[in-house]
Amino acid sequence: MIPRFKTMSEKTAIFPGSFDPFTIGHKSIVDRGLGIFSHIIIAVGYNEHKNSFLPADRRVDYIRKIYADNDRVSVVKYTGLTIDFCRRNNVSAILRGIRSISDFEYERDIADINRTLGEIETVFLVSLPEYGAVSSSMIRELIHNGYDPSRFLPLPVRF
Ligand code: ADP
Repeated sequence: MIPRFKTMSEKTAIFPGSFDPFTIGHKSIVDRGLGIFSHIIIAVGYNEHKNSFLPADRRVDYIRKIYADNDRVSVVKYTGLTIDFCRRNNVSAILRGIRSISDFEYERDIADINRTLGEIETVFLVSLPEYGAVSSSMIRELIHNGYDPSRFLPLPVRF
């Protein structure tokens, strides 16, 4: 049997998340993921019943600007289960980042469910040490308290 990862260089992965907002930590995972996958779909998840900091369309527009010159990255929004999005788009790999043990515990459960229900494998990249403390919630907190979050954002923007 041919090992599944042999074909990985021609494989598409989705990188799902809230990206509220997209940070230098997220960008680092995508950029490193492009060394493994041929195409990455950044899938911006939204839930009509949950309040977000930025509307999904603004999150999508911001990420599209970051990757405007890279045709190996596409950005879309989606709602519902990630495995359903993967099925609709014929994608069988999910990319996720891990910063800590708590990320790992949470991610492992989701990866188990996605593999069991959707036959979808999850590939984890451990965050670079310099990005281990970067999170969307930290950026939202900085903005809320009047601080400039630019150094944690891939492109300067005023949200
Ligand atoms: P979710 O709401 O699905 O957790 P996030 O937007 O918070 O979505 O994160 C999307 C993915 O990016 C997750 O796999 C998360 O662990 C990862 N991630 C977030 N911040 C970082 C970072 N600084 N370094 C590496 N991975 C990160």
